[in-house]
Amino acid sequence: MSATLVWFRQDLRLQDNAALNAAVARGGAVVPVFIRDDAGEGRWPMGAAARWWLHHSLAALDAALRERRSQLVLARGDSLAGLRQLVAATGADAIFWNRRYEPAAAARGAQVRREFGAEGMEVQQFGGALLHEPGEVLNRQGRPYQVFTPFWRHALTLPVAPPKKLRETTIPATATWPRSLNMDELELLPRLGWAEGFAGEWKPGEANAQAQLDRFVAERIERYAGQRDRPDRAGTARLSAALHFGELTPRQIWAAVKTRTKGTFPGSEGARVFLGEVGWREFAHHVLADFPNSPEAPLRKEFERFEWASDPDGAKLHAWQRGCTGYPIVDAGMRQLWATGWMHNRVRMIVASFLVKHLRLPWQRGAEWFWDTLIDADLANNTLNWQWSAGCGADAAPYFRIFAPVTQGRKFDPDGAYVRRWVPELARMPVEWIHAPWEASAEARAVADVRLGETYPCPIVDHASAREEALAAFRRLRADVAGD
Ligand code: FAD
Repeated sequence: MSATLVWFRQDLRLQDNAALNAAVARGGAVVPVFIRDDAGEGRWPMGAAARWWLHHSLAALDAALRERRSQLVLARGDSLAGLRQLVAATGADAIFWNRRYEPAAAARGAQVRREFGAEGMEVQQFGGALLHEPGEVLNRQGRPYQVFTPFWRHALTLPVAPPKKLRETTIPATATWPRSLNMDELELLPRLGWAEGFAGEWKPGEANAQAQLDRFVAERIERYAGQRDRPDRAGTARLSAALHFGELTPRQIWAAVKTRTKGTFPGSEGARVFLGEVGWREFAHHVLADFPNSPEAPLRKEFERFEWASDPDGAKLHAWQRGCTGYPIVDAGMRQLWATGWMHNRVRMIVASFLVKHLRLPWQRGAEWFWDTLIDADLANNTLNWQWSAGCGADAAPYFRIFAPVTQGRKFDPDGAYVRRWVPELARMPVEWIHAPWEASAEARAVADVRLGETYPCPIVDHASAREEALAAFRRLRADVAGD
């Protein structure tokens, strides 16, 4: 009997899974496989928080497969060698998988296709992680867009395929299963108890992702446009990790919104803005596919010469990472990240601007920290957004636009509820000073039990002078480039 290996990668779902559907349709046995291959991720092996998610998502996928009388075979090490062993053990004559876009992962996919294809096996790669594949949304010159608005306007004119259902209640198994590691042998969970708080916050796995999407579309999407910038509200979908790990596809999101739309799609302003954010995810993946060096190098080359500030003992970076900068909205964001593996998008923009402009530290240091601490760490999204924040990427915010953390805090966390939650030492500070405790009188601080420099840090940089220094460095860069 023929057998097909379905090589699961970042597509940890049964529904709308083109590779799995094709394997079932092909007939014969189906062997679902996941291989942890850190070296195969090139310079970006998965960070610790994302590994926590992966552990639970793989467990959920295995349970869902078992409900269909199948199971997930787990392996570790070089994925090519792992697939080879599994082919030998199962007699498989085909390997199917869904495409990934990160440079190292894409190269590995191409290698698997080449090597097994040359040996006469049937090898097939499918799409599904995006609405449209890179290369399908091009400008009039046939080149990829580097600006979001025309990219998305164009994408919106293209048809979106409906998600594919897996109808079979049984996935045909092999007569004997090859040896599999158990979940713990993949060693995905952190050894220290750091991620303990994640479990109260997140439920990885396809069924939970689908339920979260359904709830969001039924209850909150209408208010998304007005609430998405408020970190003190539950205004966003919180689906980024599910999308990253492919527990959910953007096609499923599209279809869920469409089903509920009354009148012309996409219906409400909330739905339009929400789908636009899914559009930014698309854009980020297309940019990464086109600029595979962008995780390390600025798209605007002149930024390679930018004068970053020195931080010889790493103290500034450390204060930022630990949420001890003395700017409450920045510290709240960094502590939310540490405690839950996620940070609200508005606050991600604030902390990123603070790192690259107030502290003038390279955006790559921020991207690396996010990579290790975000459950949704995603090479395309993280890179695009860090380059956006640093002013050096595709369709980026100009470098001279510097977020003032106090103003941002007052605007987007007007009651200070977000800061109070994540920076408990400021919990009793009256709302007038919650975003700038140094402006409070000594008496008001004493009543709130805040002792600057003791219970809560003094600001590590002065906003006005840090802003001036950042602008001066930017002017020098421009003068330098003009002098070339
Ligand atoms: P919602 O607002 O509900 O949006 C729905 C979906 O759209 C998200 O799940 C996400 O897939 C996508 N999306 C939303 N905003 C963006 C955006 N700006 N760029 C690309 N896609 C977006 N997102 C990641 O998934 N992984 C990352 O590693 C990542 N790093 C970031 C780094 C920085 C400096 C910044 C400013 C943003 C980063 N983002 C990243 C984008 C964004 O912050 C998150 O996708 C969002 O906060 C996830 O929450 P949500 O699912 O509730 O989003």
